[in-house]
Amino acid sequence: MLSRQYQKAIEFAAKAHEGQKRKGDGVPYISHPYAVAFILYIQGCHPDIVIAGLLHDTVEDTVVTLAEIQTEFGAAVAELVGIVTEPDKSLPWEHRKKYMIETIKFARVEAKYLSCADKLHNLSSLQINFEQCGEDAWKRLSRGYAEQKWYAESMLDSLFYGLEEAELKPMFYTYERMVRDFFAR
Ligand code: ZN
Repeated sequence: MLSRQYQKAIEFAAKAHEGQKRKGDGVPYISHPYAVAFILYIQGCHPDIVIAGLLHDTVEDTVVTLAEIQTEFGAAVAELVGIVTEPDKSLPWEHRKKYMIETIKFARVEAKYLSCADKLHNLSSLQINFEQCGEDAWKRLSRGYAEQKWYAESMLDSLFYGLEEAELKPMFYTYERMVRDFFAR
């Protein structure tokens, strides 16, 4: 049985992202936060992190505010969502990604778990798009191969930075392997 908080977060996220589609493949947006939460759940993360996974893109991409998340799901969840939210979507891609690379580098381990699951699912989606439509997969994204490679490799370094081996979960090594394999082309 899912807890009431999980049910509530699933419905909250579904409503917030209603009608939105993923940039790369056009599938309903909600599939992404659900996949991220699923990864966090099977990696044995604390329920607050799983719930943050369900909600992680609501503040960045919908009308939902951090204050609302704090009221509905508590300060711990709101803090995690706040860490992975880009502060200003009007800034250039490079600028926003550099900010996120630095933020995640010095973030606490719970935020690194959230970010790792997010990046892992994004790269899995990109890999599937690539298998289906080859080089055209890049055209659907805001930046091409070289920039995506830079971002994935920098994020990989940030995720691992400062963590003890005991804190690393299997998904970190999965992401590492995927980045190395995918961008070795
Ligand atoms: Zn995301």
